[in-house]
Amino acid sequence: MPLRDMYEPCGQCGFIYARVDTEGWGKNSARRIMCPVCGWTAYEEINWESGEPVVLKRNVSKGYGAFRLLPPSGYCGYNAFHEHPSIEVLNTLIELLSVKGWKGYISLWNDDTQKATLVHGSPLSKFNLLKQKLSEELNNDPHCNDRANYEGNQNKAVFDG
Ligand SMILES: [Zn+2]
Repeated sequence: MPLRDMYEPCGQCGFIYARVDTEGWGKNSARRIMCPVCGWTAYEEINWESGEPVVLKRNVSKGYGAFRLLPPSGYCGYNAFHEHPSIEVLNTLIELLSVKGWKGYISLWNDDTQKATLVHGSPLSKFNLLKQKLSEELNNDPHCNDRANYEGNQNKAVFDG
């Protein structure tokens, strides 16, 4: 199973570093491609019996946003919203980030603009392009109230996940 292509372009927002997670068993492997900006996710099952990859199954889920939450002494990967998250869910996530000292970010997909917007936190990671991408969306969105908050967070310690 080749591990060279660990990133692929997102099929929804076009972010070039959608994350690829792979697992393999026997002659089959599976790939999950998830965009950390908009939450678009593709899942593929691939068969390698003939020496060439044959896609057996491919499911694509529209992204309604994405988030990452890092507990103070733990690790957590990227997650996607595959439906509009409820206010309760968002409030719970925001509370973790703003009150309980967790690190991470939340982005939401906007169907009207066809773009993802950072709604809370900061994409704390070595993937500076993610930061840049979301920052560009913010700069292009005159209605975003969280811009100052986002820029403030840029100066905090960077978790290199
Ligand atoms: Zn995307």
